Amino acid sequence: MRLVLLGPPGAGKGTQAKMLEGELGLPQIASGDLLRTAVRAKTPLGVEARRYMDKGALVPDELVIKLVEQRLQQADAVNGYILDGFPRTHKQAEALRQMLAGHGQAIDVVAALIVPNDEIVKRISGRRTCRNCGATYHLIFDPPRNMNVCDKCNGELYQREDDAEDTVRMRLQTYDTQTKPLLEYYEQAGLLRRIDGVGSLETVHQRLKTALAGVAQRA
Ligand code: AMP
Repeated sequence: MRLVLLGPPGAGKGTQAKMLEGELGLPQIASGDLLRTAVRAKTPLGVEARRYMDKGALVPDELVIKLVEQRLQQADAVNGYILDGFPRTHKQAEALRQMLAGHGQAIDVVAALIVPNDEIVKRISGRRTCRNCGATYHLIFDPPRNMNVCDKCNGELYQREDDAEDTVRMRLQTYDTQTKPLLEYYEQAGLLRRIDGVGSLETVHQRLKTALAGVAQRA
């Protein structure tokens, strides 16, 4: 299955994608993770991308499209994937459609997590990320066993620069203007499922699984 998870930053896309990953046996492909890896490695693309990410702005389409296209060609993606954070603009959505059509493929379903902005700000300010493996926690909703230490790899937990409140508000504005119109785009394509993203991780996960049940898979 080729699944796209849409929703504002902090809607729970990453967490839900990780929960689905094991159940569906499909890799989570998160454009934000691909970019952060490039930033850490200080590749030319990473250095360029960082200028936008630190401000809460979108990285230029060409850079992200290239990065995701390379990732989709890897062996673990042949039977499908969970796309998290991509596409985020109309241009990216069209590029994705075309790159798949070139292989006789298409997106099977788009699940949009709907969460109000105030709830997002509350959630993101408590988010902590592992510097080593990228796992995410929430100080209140999903705390690590030991403060500032990753349960999975013992790496150090930190607050992403772009998770600071002002930057979050900026990212939400970017979402509203650039990404939200994709709901309409995918609705018209008959692919959209809207999911109420407010509630416990498990509640939202059940809603997501119900929405995905019976989705017809294409080639
Ligand atoms: P995320 O981890 O999905 O919240 O992404 C973190 C940051 O990476 C975003 O605020 C953007 O600056 C950048 N980013 C991630 N995915 C994309 C994308 N599809 N298009 C443009 N920028 C992106």
